[in-house]
Amino acid sequence: SKLLVFSSFSGGGVLVYSDSNPLKRVLHADATLDSDGQPIRKKKVVVLGSGWSGYSFLNYLNNPNYDVQVVSPRNFFLFTPLLPSVTNGTVEARSIVEPIRGLMRKKGFEYKEAECVKIDASNKKLHCRSKEGSSLKGTTEFDMDYDILVIAVGAKPNTFNTPGVEEHAYFLKEAEDALNIRHSVIDCFERASLPNLTEEERKKILHFVVVGGGPTGVEFSAELHDFLVQDVAKIYPKVQEFTRITLLEAGDHILNMFDKRITAFAEEKFQRDGIDLKTGSMVVGVTADEISTKERETGKIVSEPYGMVVWSTGIGSRPVIRDFMQQIGQGQRRVLATDEWLRVEGCEDVYALGDTATINQRRVMEDIAAIFSKADKGKTGTLNKKDFNGVVKDICQRYPQVELYLKKNKLKNIAHLLKSANGEDTQVNIENFKQALSDVDSQMKNLPATAQVASQQGKYLAKCFNKMEKCEKKPEGPLRFRGEGRHRFQPFRYRHFGSFAPLGGEQTAAELPGDWVSIGHSSQWLWYSVYASKLNGSVIGTAVNINSTMPSGCSIRALWII
Ligand code: FAD
Repeated sequence: SKLLVFSSFSGGGVLVYSDSNPLKRVLHADATLDSDGQPIRKKKVVVLGSGWSGYSFLNYLNNPNYDVQVVSPRNFFLFTPLLPSVTNGTVEARSIVEPIRGLMRKKGFEYKEAECVKIDASNKKLHCRSKEGSSLKGTTEFDMDYDILVIAVGAKPNTFNTPGVEEHAYFLKEAEDALNIRHSVIDCFERASLPNLTEEERKKILHFVVVGGGPTGVEFSAELHDFLVQDVAKIYPKVQEFTRITLLEAGDHILNMFDKRITAFAEEKFQRDGIDLKTGSMVVGVTADEISTKERETGKIVSEPYGMVVWSTGIGSRPVIRDFMQQIGQGQRRVLATDEWLRVEGCEDVYALGDTATINQRRVMEDIAAIFSKADKGKTGTLNKKDFNGVVKDICQRYPQVELYLKKNKLKNIAHLLKSANGEDTQVNIENFKQALSDVDSQMKNLPATAQVASQQGKYLAKCFNKMEKCEKKPEGPLRFRGEGRHRFQPFRYRHFGSFAPLGGEQTAAELPGDWVSIGHSSQWLWYSVYASKLNGSVIGTAVNINSTMPSGCSIRALWII
């Protein structure tokens, strides 16, 4: 049924359009003139990346005052949520990509298929080269300058420097990765079907190990299990009995970012399905034949033979970003830090979106302190309830993470948090409150690295750019807490629409706003609907619509399934 539903995509493969760009020429011809009749030089905006955040930014950007240039090694947008389904062939890779050239032509933007290898922020220059593996490698290096840089390069799989992972494991990040996994799974079955093998050898070849119990690892395990049950039984009946899937997770549970009910359901389902789930099992090395783990309970190192390993333990910064972070004094950080307007901290005219960056949490506490000082005019160290509520509202508006944290922990608002710190006093003691907040801070997580966040950030930034000129004159943002005046724009505000976790066997777990959890076949249909719905007026469509950030060819609505 998946195949049927998703065949409605019209992605149509990686088409490459002609380089001629009539619209762009028209835009140049119409360039606005200054008071002396001279064309005004357009600001050059360079966008790095054509993924969720970059594509969304480009899709919403409608300001003719910018000369927009895009650099990305991938000349298509990739709809990652359906990538696990490509590994077993229920969805074709060509159905989940959208060529970037179509958008470039429509918008009059320019595209270069290359990767940025160095950002020189002090001279506003980029060093780029044709993508690795290209037949042109080494021959097409070039420099570009920019007035404004938008970094949307995403992240790379994180191996935590575990020996042997780069060499022996498969990742699931790009379309090629999914196809490689698909070929490798089939290859394992073909090899295991050869004559003259011992039972042990067949078992080894057909032992599939998935590392990482996050949403991607879980979904891939479930897809693989369905494939083994539904297809392998028919195609390779003689070797089916030798197959085994092991899912390794270093923590106590899989899907630990989800509601506990979902985690428990997923663990039980995997057990029933015969997926060997090992929690508290940290991988310490991978060789060509064996994967070694350190078991938390016993402290022992255990090695097991395997046929194929898929590594899915989270993400880390790309080398170009690590290098850039060193340059701008963020070398100690894990991820590039921005402010709430998505401007890279300590850098002029550079913005960063999506998985490559995170909004700096430290600023939250500094700003909260400033909000208090401002509200506490009498310097008494206390606020009455009315002023306090105003302050809380300000904080939540400015920092969606605080609000998210409170919701997640079922605290109606910050005032609830305060109760324990402040008792029933009518005056709110600021020091107590700050203490309570810093507890929140230490537990508060960054915004999740999801398509839902990335696409909302792209849209937000494009909208800021679209009204840049107007807002330079008439700022719309909040009053600055430090210094005078207003910021030009409202800060970025994330809206969480919910999460899905497909668990295989036509069952999905859904966690939607309002503490609504649904697990089973009905959620699977909800998942299908969310992804495939074309109905503009549908409740689901309206509630979770990030469709407009989607490329036109994939006329689907999407919601983060994590
Ligand atoms: P990406 O979408 O990764 O885009 C990065 C872009 O930058 C790419 O075009 C890349 O080619 C380009 N690039 C890379 N290096 C350079 C360079 N040096 N110079 C120029 N360009 C460069 N999220 C959800 O919300 N829901 C889901 O269901 C979901 N499922 C997922 C399933 C899988 C298998 C995976 C891997 C991820 C999934 N995610 C999901 C996460 C989601 O895909 C990411 O959060 C999202 O892609 C981040 O968007 P981005 O724009 O930051 O990066």
